[in-house]
Amino acid sequence: MTLVRFAPSPTGRLHVGNIRTALVNWLFARQQGGRFLLRLDDTDTERSTAEFARGIEEDLRWLGLGWDLFDRQSDRMSRYSEAAERLKASGRLYPCFETPEELSLKRKAQINAGKPPVYDRAALGLSDAEKTALAKSTVPHWRFLLEPGRIEWEDRVRGHVHFEAANLSDPVLFRADGRPIYTLATVVDDIDLGVTDVIRGEDHVANTAIQIQLFRALGAAVPRFGHTTLIADAAGEGLSKRIGSLSIANLREDGIEPMTINSLLAHLGTSDAVEPYLSLDDLVRHFDLGHFGRATPKFDPEELPRLNHRLIQKLSFVGVRDRLPAGADERFWLAVRPNLARVSEAAEWWPVIHGPLRPEIADPAFAEAAAALLPPEPWDETSWGVWTKAVGSATKRKGKELYLPLRLALTGRAHGPELKSLLVLIGRARSLARLLGKEA
Ligand code: GLU
Repeated sequence: MTLVRFAPSPTGRLHVGNIRTALVNWLFARQQGGRFLLRLDDTDTERSTAEFARGIEEDLRWLGLGWDLFDRQSDRMSRYSEAAERLKASGRLYPCFETPEELSLKRKAQINAGKPPVYDRAALGLSDAEKTALAKSTVPHWRFLLEPGRIEWEDRVRGHVHFEAANLSDPVLFRADGRPIYTLATVVDDIDLGVTDVIRGEDHVANTAIQIQLFRALGAAVPRFGHTTLIADAAGEGLSKRIGSLSIANLREDGIEPMTINSLLAHLGTSDAVEPYLSLDDLVRHFDLGHFGRATPKFDPEELPRLNHRLIQKLSFVGVRDRLPAGADERFWLAVRPNLARVSEAAEWWPVIHGPLRPEIADPAFAEAAAALLPPEPWDETSWGVWTKAVGSATKRKGKELYLPLRLALTGRAHGPELKSLLVLIGRARSLARLLGKEA
């Protein structure tokens, strides 16, 4: 059975980039009838916090991206040590004693000589006596011995991918302080939990080459991989700090609906049009990992309120009722909905209908004439047309000259929802008072 995972490090809140990875994995799992694992990559004990971990869970829940399985790397340290022992026994993990300064000098020398900065494996040539001597003053870190040859895989997004092992450095799997590095922890976890598909950003492509060898060295089947291109900003640059750090928490505070975010991110970088979908089930039906392309998708934060507006046009009164001002009914919702980029903006229109409101009147004589022509109630959506036609012929005004002063008198603003809907809700008594310049 398909098992995918989303593996954030709890070192910050989720943002647009990593939410896309979570969503793509979640949709893929649902589509395959598989399961979705949330794994916290929290081996970096200095930067990981319980609060960020809680924040990640809260953000995922708010987006509707629940998980079937949960794990955290800090609970699995003994498994990483066991894997280390196995790799040592098979000669694939070897101790190294270079200091960071030495390594950096070596790298510089290689680059100056026009060579790729690949670790020279000097530590492999140390005799047992040399290692014992070095170990007296230095605690070693441990590297994984890559096998020579071509590493290749069929990527679900990128197609055929290959690397020459000789161009890669033997990766460090354990720091001198004994902490496992992500590369080892992630492979051990993926094996233990039976992850079948690893879908993540293209910044992990080179890691994948290494991880494929590590899966094999640990005697495990290699999962299938898919690497989506990273999102860029509207100008095509990598996500700037401002946009990259656009957290889900910020967007939520800004009144963006979770399904707006999901709808945009599920199709950003695909050949599919971005449509506002009301539910994740709809999105599952319209999702295809094979539609993700190689071009860098552009993310324009301005698109979110626009898409949110389109999504809101599909929201029924029942779906938003508890977020509207007390007393709001379906007529109110339908009247103001076309004007909203955010559901919370509905509240701004409540006093426009129920008062008190200070009307804006530039020409009292015109407003009085219009007041005298208000038709008797009951009103419906045709009343506005009947009334303004009468006002137009009596005052010889038309277009903006006719409508704008009426809007300003009735709503106190120059823009807003259609007056044919608002007028019915404002009602005759309040309309009359406002046209006569009274606060109502
Ligand atoms: N913690 C890693 C990251 O956030 C996970 C990468 C992976 O999916 O293996 O980049």
